[in-house]
Amino acid sequence: MERSIEARVSHEVENWLRWITRWHPATHRGRSRICRQCLGSPMIASAGLAVDVPHVVQHALSMRMKIVIEASVDEYTELNLPLLAFELNLHERRQSAQAYRPTEGLDPEFRGLDLDPQPAADAPYLFTFSELADQQLADQQPADQLLAPGSTANPAELPPLTPEEKAALTAEIALADEFASQVGRRVCAQLTQERPRLLAAVAEYVEPQVQALLADLESTLDSPLWPRNP
Ligand SMILES: [Zn+2]
Repeated sequence: MERSIEARVSHEVENWLRWITRWHPATHRGRSRICRQCLGSPMIASAGLAVDVPHVVQHALSMRMKIVIEASVDEYTELNLPLLAFELNLHERRQSAQAYRPTEGLDPEFRGLDLDPQPAADAPYLFTFSELADQQLADQQPADQLLAPGSTANPAELPPLTPEEKAALTAEIALADEFASQVGRRVCAQLTQERPRLLAAVAEYVEPQVQALLADLESTLDSPLWPRNP
């Protein structure tokens, strides 16, 4: 591997440290769905960001670590797992034939978040990005229609995998999973090392803004327009 996983984690931590200097709390209502990337994430726990840190701040780090893991697993697959590499390339070619994918090409901080802001009662949407993204997913072919290597022709014309090829592919997928778990453990170990500077940045750039928001809320609740003890 050209760059170690630890070096990649440090590099993405530095990107996150640059991003966080520009962070401000959102003024609109936050997301209501639970985020599968961040909730209970061992990476967020290793980074020391599991408690009292806004989700958006956690999410920006989660998605950067996801990039590190995916890039490492992709490299490993390309080098060591030819059947799986072939299937993934095929899948990618099918996907790139799709016209418009609103969930792709976003900065890491925005991946996996709600695509659309909360709707306002008096301003209905003509369409939402979520609907477009769902449509693109629905248009894709089922994942179990796997095809054999050997042809660069139209993917739809490739013959289906033989039972032997399917078994070999399943074995490669298990190896890729195992490698991904190893990378995940190394990312967590490196994030534990990075914890002091992550926490220092949260203390400097996040905490004061959260405290200011809370103070604002308190004074609103104390105002005569919003009597606390009616
Ligand atoms: Zn998240």
